[in-house]
Amino acid sequence: MSAPCGTTSGYQRHIRHGERPCDACRKVNSAHTYARHGEAQRARTRALTRLAHAHPDAFAALEIREFAADGVTTRSGPAYQRAHRRAKSELARLLPTEYADLLAAELAAEAHPVATRQEPR
Ligand SMILES: [Zn+2]
Repeated sequence: MSAPCGTTSGYQRHIRHGERPCDACRKVNSAHTYARHGEAQRARTRALTRLAHAHPDAFAALEIREFAADGVTTRSGPAYQRAHRRAKSELARLLPTEYADLLAAELAAEAHPVATRQEPR
């Protein structure tokens, strides 16, 4: 009962057998890897947002500083978005432990059930 081609288990089977994964397996595996990357990015964004919501005053102060640095005067547009993101990153740098906890929780929430399933021994 070997894993069929065109699945991530099929890809793993090729690797285990020392084979070069076939096209179908490679395609599925890289799509899976990109999806995981997207999940990690969404988890980071949500963790930063939750951190900002947990510390509204500290975040507002950082935002004002970043807005002033870039001459941002309206809460819209790419310059505002950049300053807003920098303020969130700065808050994460100031509160590394709290950010790490939030990120771990968000990553766990994103985790694909298949990725965490234990293989029977
Ligand atoms: Zn294959």
